[in-house]
Amino acid sequence: MMKLKRIAVLLALCAAVGAAGARAPQTEVQDGIPVRPMSRLRVFAPAEQVEAQARQQYTALVSKAQQQGALAPANDPDAQRLRAVARRIIPFATRWNPAAAQWDWQVNLLKSPQVNAFCMPGGKIAFYTGIINQLKLNDDEIAAIMGHEMAHALREHSREQFGKSAATSLLARGAGAIVSGIFGIDPRVTDTVAQYGAQGLALKYSRDDEREADLIGLDLAARAGYDPRAGVALWQKMASLNKAQPLEILSTHPAGPERVRQIQDHMNVLLPLYARSKGTSINQLPPYRTASLN
Ligand SMILES: [Zn+2]
Repeated sequence: MMKLKRIAVLLALCAAVGAAGARAPQTEVQDGIPVRPMSRLRVFAPAEQVEAQARQQYTALVSKAQQQGALAPANDPDAQRLRAVARRIIPFATRWNPAAAQWDWQVNLLKSPQVNAFCMPGGKIAFYTGIINQLKLNDDEIAAIMGHEMAHALREHSREQFGKSAATSLLARGAGAIVSGIFGIDPRVTDTVAQYGAQGLALKYSRDDEREADLIGLDLAARAGYDPRAGVALWQKMASLNKAQPLEILSTHPAGPERVRQIQDHMNVLLPLYARSKGTSINQLPPYRTASLN
């Protein structure tokens, strides 16, 4: 009897995936990085549930950081830089996810030496001071990271990871553990979230999701007027710093040496977006400059 019930559930799940996959092909001509349909696995993790969990955990994280004196105040120059970058990028987010028009975006800077940053489902962004200071990020590089993290949220990669897990286990587990587990949150900032983090260590974005987030992130940044060549400089700096100390952000964002090459291969579509937003041509763009880590 139990067996039959399980088979019925499995069939229902398969039908749901099939229905979600039936989509009209896109005929619209696009510039920049083309918008493709999102993962079908997302149907197993309702957006409202995932976003509600993320909101709850983000609020807990920020208030705990505040109690511990680890939340940068609104007048902190780096917190202001982060919010200025976010304000410029957010108007372009709906191209990747129309629901983002209703998101309550938040941006906070946490005082922690961790080299990490994340954007939770529903647009809850945090940067750690460690990533800004240790990588000596300029605004273009902040935009490259923020765009990348926003892309994970906009493309609902957490829902996809949760959906994958739900589909394989057929268990109706809460989304909470998975949502926060993906972000490699600093245990010094919050115990509560760190507990979830320990459970969710096995969960991270896939390499495909990383590749997608790299390109979408730079597309967003370029449209907002930030130099997409920052993507190359950034991941090179990240790789050289990672040799001296393993970086938290790389533990949740698997990447290989092909990362920089993929970004370089797409400069032909990214640079025109940037030049256009600057009201100039590609040939007129000045060479890219970044701060040396030494
Ligand atoms: Zn990533």
